Amino acid sequence: MDHILPVSRGGPSSWTNLVSACKECNNRKADRTPAEAGMPLRVEPFDPALAYRVGGHVEGLPVLISA
Ligand SMILES: [Zn+2]
Repeated sequence: MDHILPVSRGGPSSWTNLVSACKECNNRKADRTPAEAGMPLRVEPFDPALAYRVGGHVEGLPVLISA
């Protein structure tokens, strides 16, 4: 996991400030924002608790099925 705004610069460990990245990309980005690193986000992060709340109640959460 990589912080979009680095912790060293005040970034929180929240759903919307964390993205998954491989070791190489994480190292390449280092202590910079995606804009500074020239690495735009492929997917805008979101809070899953909010994303599945439709019409005032929580819809079924996705289930991970292990083969
Ligand atoms: Zn990578």
